Amino acid sequence: MPLDIAIASAEMVPFAKVGGLADVAGALAKELDRFGHEVTVFLPRYRGIHEERFPGLGLEKVGDIDIQVGGRVERAEIGAATVPGSGVRLILVGHDEFFDRDNPYVDPKTGKDWPDNAERFIFFNKAILESLRLLRWIPDVIHTNDYQTGLVPILLREAYSHEERYARVGTLFSIHNVGYQGIFPRDVLELIGLSEDLAGPTGPLEYWGKVNFMKAAILYADLVNTVSERYAEEIQSGNEYGFGLEGVLHGRRADLLGILNGIDAEVWDPASDPLIAANYEATSLSRKRENKIRLLESMELPVEPDVPLIGIISRLVDQKGFDLFEKIAAGLFRGRLKIVVLGSGQPRYEELLRSLRKKYPQKFAVALEFNDKLAHLIEAGSDFFLMPSKYEPCGLNQMYSLRYGTIPIVRATGGLADTVHDYEFETGKGNGFTFEDYTGEALLEAIKRALKLYQKKRPLKKLITEIMQIDHSWDTAARKYVAAYERAIAKRRA
Ligand code: ADP
Repeated sequence: MPLDIAIASAEMVPFAKVGGLADVAGALAKELDRFGHEVTVFLPRYRGIHEERFPGLGLEKVGDIDIQVGGRVERAEIGAATVPGSGVRLILVGHDEFFDRDNPYVDPKTGKDWPDNAERFIFFNKAILESLRLLRWIPDVIHTNDYQTGLVPILLREAYSHEERYARVGTLFSIHNVGYQGIFPRDVLELIGLSEDLAGPTGPLEYWGKVNFMKAAILYADLVNTVSERYAEEIQSGNEYGFGLEGVLHGRRADLLGILNGIDAEVWDPASDPLIAANYEATSLSRKRENKIRLLESMELPVEPDVPLIGIISRLVDQKGFDLFEKIAAGLFRGRLKIVVLGSGQPRYEELLRSLRKKYPQKFAVALEFNDKLAHLIEAGSDFFLMPSKYEPCGLNQMYSLRYGTIPIVRATGGLADTVHDYEFETGKGNGFTFEDYTGEALLEAIKRALKLYQKKRPLKKLITEIMQIDHSWDTAARKYVAAYERAIAKRRA
């Protein structure tokens, strides 16, 4: 039976993207729409979301709502649009003071979180629920994502459930990264406007004297999921992965699922990708080489297409393993290889990469920016793709890499462990190279094995051809989400 599904997210491709959440929101919504469900996505109206940039949006004003945020009343301008090329309805929550900014979470000037993030996202959560009245629409389920929309379940239960129609709405909370929980000083409770008791000792919002949005979401959602099976296990196993919420997560283990993300197989298709230099398939791999040449040129590296090339695209944060990379860099660059990095983030890592560029200008190049086109070219033009993550909820780039015939080298954690299996030289089994221990030696050893395969032309070509056939499209994942929605709804209505 078709469902009425609301997806609440702080990011969505193509409108606003910081990381994997944007890809998930965009691709999942489209896939659910294709299955015949009624899908509405709620997104803040960030700077740059308008008709000129996104033809076909058809943005129309629905109305204004006054939202109480602590002692202040803030006006939410609710607009309705259609995600171009689909039947997905987009509800944009406008409030320029909060959302007319260059980055959803971080002030580009300071590199730090916007100081009013608690206020901004409290406002957004409240506006989502209030706009349902304006829209005269009650969904069967609200799918909330990460801390930015994590207050929806608690608000729904504590402030709306006296109305029968709201009491029947199921909620699913998806954790895309436990490393970002939305922990704020206790006084933001006043902005949320719920009872003090909820943030009292052992209360659902309380966290070491502060307020934790993600904790409340885990406790209040009918069902919780994260973005790979391995990560679902890891985050309840201890502090290293659970970041203090392991106990809360373990307490909800019966309602905690792992659903591996899919990839948008239309956007990430080497056969038709308009952002790369030459389109190719498993049967026309010589054209993949043209991408390598273009990539080397554009990164201002010597064009030596027979030298193995490793690509990295990543947020430059502790999670992504750049400290390991730093440890092995000197040893690594003694070998015959080249590495290109695209990323932006912590100044510490930006400096590291700049200094490596200076030291190894023939072998290493870096682009410190967010650049979607270059990301596609790196996927197409590299021989290997490196993700030495300390933890990785799902990871998308390793799946893009497989599709582009670019062999992933990854640390066996979270979604990386679920999607990349170590290559065996004897049997030819496996689809990439993995390492277990979070050490420089283990990483270096994995890269060396990858480079060894690069010398063996026939098995190399066989592996590339095989990995390009692996199906990671959203179809499977979206079916699992529908089953999760049905389970959340059934639980709520029981
Ligand atoms: P995370 O969500 O932790 O950032 P994922 O691998 O799940 O990691 O998703 C990251 C997404 O963001 C991928 O689609 C990746 O290509 C993209 N991305 C990350 N950094 C950049 C960048 N500097 N330029 C372009 N795309 C980027």
